[in-house]
Amino acid sequence: MPGLLEGKTALVAGVANRWSIAYSIAAAFRREGATLLLTYQGERLRGQVEELAVELGAAKVLNCDVTNDAELEALVATLQAEFPKLDAVVHSIAFANKEDLSRPFSETSRDGYLLSQNVSAYSLVAMSRALSPLMTDGGAIMTLTYLGATRVVENYNVMGVAKAALEACVRYLAAELGAKNIRVNAISAGPIKTASARGIKDFSKVLDAVAAHAPLKRNCDPAEVGDTAVFLASGLGRGVTGNTIFVDAGFQVMGL
Ligand code: NAP
Repeated sequence: MPGLLEGKTALVAGVANRWSIAYSIAAAFRREGATLLLTYQGERLRGQVEELAVELGAAKVLNCDVTNDAELEALVATLQAEFPKLDAVVHSIAFANKEDLSRPFSETSRDGYLLSQNVSAYSLVAMSRALSPLMTDGGAIMTLTYLGATRVVENYNVMGVAKAALEACVRYLAAELGAKNIRVNAISAGPIKTASARGIKDFSKVLDAVAAHAPLKRNCDPAEVGDTAVFLASGLGRGVTGNTIFVDAGFQVMGL
């Protein structure tokens, strides 16, 4: 049986290591037959991501710091020459200063606030502007968000505010790009042990709380996020845009 993404080309940004959520998404995309392109941030990660690309069967690995417009332009130029049609773009990128994920929220510095917005929210706008012209046959753009966008999660702080902006960006981008049959959605993953998550103070307590209280009585599996990304990137998701889809073992529906 052909894979759900056979004949489609997907660019996945945010694979840093095997624990990255983007890694699980990339693996699910390959399983379903997509041609896979990976981007990484800067020379420091290049060798590591190239090794992962071999494991994942990726067709190309490209440098792109999403805060750097010149690098985004260079990425587009390379894609135009080698992979002129994109069908899916995954934005799995976020950053905040570690001290802003532990001290009281009101002590967030102006620079720390702007940094987290730039890397974690504005970058979706910049990537969509740069890459949507390559999505000539329509397609799907997706990003990763978290419950801390709409609820207060201890220590998530400035990243919660960035995710709130990110989710609003998804809605505005969906409204604009829908005319080109490009769908834009967010996947709100439950807590997953990754390098970024380790930066959040007391993260293991969040994992414990979800396992204890989520309807499914466990945490989500990154492979479940990958499968939801496949759904969004494939024809199965053709009617879905502007949404935040929770893949969190149901935790977000719980009150007391
Ligand atoms: P991760 O493996 O650390 O992935 C974060 C990625 O963002 C890394 O590849 C990182 O590259 C990249 N990045 C940071 N700044 C960048 C820049 N300027 N340009 C390009 N790439 C940049 O952690 P993750 O947990 O999988 O995070 C992926 C996404 O899922 C994030 O948006 C995160 O907020 C979201 N999410 C995570 C969880 C969770 O519990 N883990 C839950 C919900 C949502 P470097 O390593 O080079 O910095």
